[in-house]
Amino acid sequence: MDLGIKGKVALVTASSTGIGKAVAEALAEEGCNLAICSRTKEVLIETARDIKNKFHIEPFWGVCDLNQHKDIENFYDAVKNHFGKVDILINNCGGPIPGFFRDLSEDDWDNAFKQVLLSVVRFSNLVVPKMIEQEWGRIVNITSIAVKQPVHNLMLSNSLRAGVTGFAKSLSNEFGNKNITVNNVAPGYTLTHRLYELAVNRAKTSGKSHEEILVEMAKDVPMNRLGGPEEIAAMVVFLASQKASYITGTTIQVDGGSTRAIF
Ligand code: NAD
Repeated sequence: MDLGIKGKVALVTASSTGIGKAVAEALAEEGCNLAICSRTKEVLIETARDIKNKFHIEPFWGVCDLNQHKDIENFYDAVKNHFGKVDILINNCGGPIPGFFRDLSEDDWDNAFKQVLLSVVRFSNLVVPKMIEQEWGRIVNITSIAVKQPVHNLMLSNSLRAGVTGFAKSLSNEFGNKNITVNNVAPGYTLTHRLYELAVNRAKTSGKSHEEILVEMAKDVPMNRLGGPEEIAAMVVFLASQKASYITGTTIQVDGGSTRAIF
């Protein structure tokens, strides 16, 4: 199927590894012009090289810490200078630190707020004016199944992803008449560095190894396995595409069935 986004400019945040990188690759496969960012230059250069080797497009990359407003503005300006606009914004971020309510400090909340919610607001704020002008835009936020069913020991994610979901729904209401769609993809257990870190964290208090924790996570999924980042990316790219032209304001979980709720 031709998804109809060849030549569109796609900006993917936090995209040097994991789900962000898989989304960047899937967009490159569709022929998008790609801008990627994360905090570490060396890793970004490697990611850009990988994408170029596989898909024969040269991603534009920039160092950007999502917690820093200035970094976001600078990166967006650089992308705009390079490509002239952004048609597709994929808001990904590093996962906030794990912990129960009593484990978390004011600074932890402040950092997670900037990383998970404010970065989405800031990037959206920068790209939306041009999307309104051209009457075409796609925004897809990577959230978590935590928005449907709070995850054990992830107080920050459980709280702040809900904010992203409310923001996305409100934005979709405001700009639906400008042909801008805003959606969220909520991954379940997906085999990336983030999941490995969460397993290591759970192992510390459970007396089990992180390998055992990963096996337990997989058993908890009706499909009896963990997801791959490319399986999340497939849904993200569909929602970012021309084919998803009448889907907006929604959250779609990609979780092998692990969310137990009906809706
Ligand atoms: P990952 O740790 O593999 O990758 C995170 C990416 O974010 C990396 O490229 C990293 O460099 C970048 N990053 C981290 N902090 C950043 C910052 N301050 N500024 C810029 N870039 C930053 O994680 P992942 O598994 O790919 O997860 C992506 C998102 O999906 C996270 O928000 C995570 O919480 C969420 N999620 C993941 C899973 C899972 O099982 N992997 C499940 C649900 C939700």
